This record gives sequence, structure tokens and C-alpha cells, in this order.
Amino acid sequence: MRAIERFLHYITVDTASSEESGKHPSTSGQFDLARVLVMDLLRMGISAGDITYDEEHCYVYARLKGNSERDIPAVGFISHLDTSPEASGKNVRTQFVYDYDGGEIELGNGKMLSPSVFPELLLYKGQTLITTDGQTLLGADDKAGIAEIMSMLEYFIENPDIEHGDICVAFTPDEEIGEGTEFFDLKAFGADVAYTVDGGILGEISYENFNAASAKITIKGCNVHPGEAKDKMINSQRIAFEIDGAIPAAERPETTCDREGFFHLCSISGDVSQTTMKYIIRDHDKNLFEEKKERIRKICEKTMAAHPGCGITADISDTYYNMIEKIIPDNKHIVDICKRAMKKDGIEPLDVPVRGGTDGAMLSFKGLPCPNICAGGHNFHGVYEYISVESIEKITKLLSGIVLEFADR
Ligand SMILES: [Zn+2]
Repeated sequence: MRAIERFLHYITVDTASSEESGKHPSTSGQFDLARVLVMDLLRMGISAGDITYDEEHCYVYARLKGNSERDIPAVGFISHLDTSPEASGKNVRTQFVYDYDGGEIELGNGKMLSPSVFPELLLYKGQTLITTDGQTLLGADDKAGIAEIMSMLEYFIENPDIEHGDICVAFTPDEEIGEGTEFFDLKAFGADVAYTVDGGILGEISYENFNAASAKITIKGCNVHPGEAKDKMINSQRIAFEIDGAIPAAERPETTCDREGFFHLCSISGDVSQTTMKYIIRDHDKNLFEEKKERIRKICEKTMAAHPGCGITADISDTYYNMIEKIIPDNKHIVDICKRAMKKDGIEPLDVPVRGGTDGAMLSFKGLPCPNICAGGHNFHGVYEYISVESIEKITKLLSGIVLEFADR
């Protein structure tokens, strides 16, 4: 029961991050949870010398030293303190649905959690679900991950006869705004390999994510009084339409899934004389990713050539890369070990390519190979978020199983 109690405690702390604050961490509530975790770590018996709390940037690292004579790799687990700014995380009020019958769940505040909209609910028939009251997100993303990691640590502290290597844990701020690894201290963390525990459904394992770039296209036109514009005016907004029109509709977020990449027009603003378009470009495949960047450059060149007198610049920069190239060639055992631990617990592993980036992808490119595994929740970032008690318990056990697999190798 302790992982559940921890989870229910952690979600009482409002840790929503903020895109706007410009601070690190972006919000002060994350400090509150970091301090709770430091206290919990001390209370469960991690010595103060094995806890590093970066009070400036709000990172918590802790280590349970190995008890083996053998040389066992230090395995790490990471989850994030913040919740998404897309929904409130303040005054989270949970509801328990015992022995779920597969029907509609009334959350309150006019919100229904219904299997006709969220068919995965049916997987949880007979289980105990934790939902919101329809006003806030739940915070299973990623406080379920934190609770599972903490309870796994406690298990090894309470069972000192079980042989294991160093277990390193880290709790990081601002994952939801893409800044989770900004000040991550690999040395303080001390793991040889790690997992972010930040995925969804039980069994999920991800070691692929997008390659990502952003493109800012600036179009300069020529403004003339519309009454005298013939053969003189160049309307930068119309040129923007042409550029976007050259990108096939089949390569948009709303028309793609799985490993299909896309161009996403995030924003467009301007007037006759100047228009700015912002795209993000995504593809799992490195070659297709490069091709997409090249294509948008070419489209801009061609459009500029077709409109003498207009100016088009495309600033394209890479944001992050697919971690698969850091995991599969040289570190596939990290994936295999996790899958073995899952199978031993009767969990069917599900390979899920992430249609986004992960903190683990960033860390993989900093030298710490780091796939992402399930934390158990569903419908992240909104009021329909839920998790089952059974998933939290199983994932807590799975994390211990992974540690044991490393010790066995
Ligand atoms: Zn998350």
C-alpha cells in the first residue's frame, strides 16, 4: 500500500511548471515537492551523504549503495517533479473507483470518464481506479513514477539481504516545458544506465523518439497602397500560404501516427510587408528528418525565385535527436533487461515509439543511455487523467525486478 500512500501525498503538492516564468525551476511548488522527497529519503534510511539536493535548480539525487562484492552496473531511475501547465494541479481531489465495472465514471463538474471515448478503461475492469474530480489533472504524470521509484528503494532498504548494485534515483524539475535536463548533473546522479519512469500503460517501454528541429521562416514583401498595387505589391502573407501549400497535407500531425514524421505549422503572424511562420519538424528516421529540413529550405528558395523582390529566410535548428542510435547499437541490454523483468512479472512488454522527446533522449546524447518505461497512468495533462492502484503496485515491483536483473547479469 505504501506506493499508493506516497502517490496520494505527492499529488497534494501543486507542482505545475510554467512556460512563461523564465526561471529555473519555472515554479516554486516544485521546491516543495523536492523537499518532501528529501525528507522521505532520509526517513526511509538513505544517509544524508548519499543525497544531493541541488537547491538552486531543484534536482534531487539519491543513491542506495550496492551490497554486492561483484561488479554490478549502477542503474538509475528518473521521474519528474512538475505537472503539465495545460491543466491545474492545485487542490487535486481524487476519487477511488473500486472494482471498476467497465461503465461510465462520473468525475463531477459535468465531466464523464467514459470507455466510449477512452476504450483503454476497459482494460481495468475489476481494478481500483484513481481519478480526479473533473477540475484538475491527477498528476500520475509523473508522481506515480516518483512514488514507484521511492517505494522500490524502500523495498531494498528493508530487505538488505537481497544482493544488488548501486541504485541511483533522480527527481527533476520542468520536464513538461522541455527543460528537465538543463541542469542535470550526471556525476551527482552516478548511474551507468538509467530509465525515465514517465510512460503510460503498464508494459510500455520506449527507446525511440523523434528527431526534432524548428524552422522559423521570415518573408519580406512589399507594401504599396492597394489602389496602386498592380504589379508592385508583394503580399508576404500570400507567399506564406504558398509555402505552407507546398507541404503535403499527409505530412501534418493531424494526419500522421506511429513512426510517420511531420511538419507542424505552430504559428503564423504578419502583415503585407512581413510574415513570420514557425514550424516544428519531426521524424523518427534520421534520413527522412534531414530530407524534411532540406525540403523546407528548397521550398523557400523556389518560392523566393518565383516572386522577384520578396525576401525569404529559413532559420532551421535541431532541437533533439532519436535516442535509438544511442541505445540499440551498443546498449540494447538495457531494453532487454527491462523486458525480461516484465515477463517475469507476467507483464507483456509494449514497444512504443515516442512521438515527442523525452528527458531520457537528452540524457542518452549526454552519455547516459536512458529509455523510458511505464509509470502507469492514462490521459496525461488533463482532467481525464487516471491510474489504477494495481498498476502502481506492479510497476513498483517491476522496478525492483529490473534492479535484480542487473545484479544477475
Ligand atoms: Zn511526464
